[in-house]
Amino acid sequence: MNFIDTHCHIDTILEKTDGTIEALFEQMNPLPEAIVHIACDPKDFSFGKDFLKRKSINGVQIFGAFGVHPLNAKTYCKEAEAALLECLKLPNVVALGEIGLDYHYYSDNADLQKSVFLRQVEIGLELGKNFVFHLREAENDAFNILQKIDKENLNVHLHCYTGTLDFAEKVLSLKGNYFFGITGALTFEKTVTIKEAASLIPLNRMLLETDAPYLAPVPFRGKICTPAMIPNTAQVLADIKKVSLDELLKICRENTGRMYGI
Ligand SMILES: [Zn+2]
Repeated sequence: MNFIDTHCHIDTILEKTDGTIEALFEQMNPLPEAIVHIACDPKDFSFGKDFLKRKSINGVQIFGAFGVHPLNAKTYCKEAEAALLECLKLPNVVALGEIGLDYHYYSDNADLQKSVFLRQVEIGLELGKNFVFHLREAENDAFNILQKIDKENLNVHLHCYTGTLDFAEKVLSLKGNYFFGITGALTFEKTVTIKEAASLIPLNRMLLETDAPYLAPVPFRGKICTPAMIPNTAQVLADIKKVSLDELLKICRENTGRMYGI
């Protein structure tokens, strides 16, 4: 089985399991072909840098992305930006992110979130980077920004897509290459909107991701999620899209290549 976890947080998995990187990669079964580790808080950038220097662990290729998450917007400062620019130079960094807007927990700092998001978008555009966006309950503001930056050859991973069908349709009408990240949340009984969006979004615009250690798919709910759980989400998505698991994994693998060049 060939699959890539396009979005996970290895340091947070380790914090929750109290284990070592080696043990984590030895226990993963099945083993992914590769993972994309996301460092989205300036305090975690140094772990990310050291981790990415490993390049490959137990046969799993290591890639990464760096950015300042909207929920960490207040940590964005000159020093954080300098550290971000340093990290983006690593050869196996495949995107800038996750960055974006999140009004779910609090929207009273929406202006700050927007300016931090836009500043990083500006950096990414200048450097010609791919983007990982975290957008939650901020569809109007998010779409205004997407419209402004939209262009051909822009690669954006809308990580852990939980938005409306309407938003997905609007995004699909843009010129850039927008990919929708499907997590274990798809397998939860109550996630009607995600299932609706998953049935509408074309398969060639989807990426498989765990957002590990969060969102462990059925039957692992309540457990700490790891990249090895991708096939469980993939099977549910394959059923929705009425294709075989192999076919689904093959298409998502190709999409990962188009999005991240890996
Ligand atoms: Zn994440």
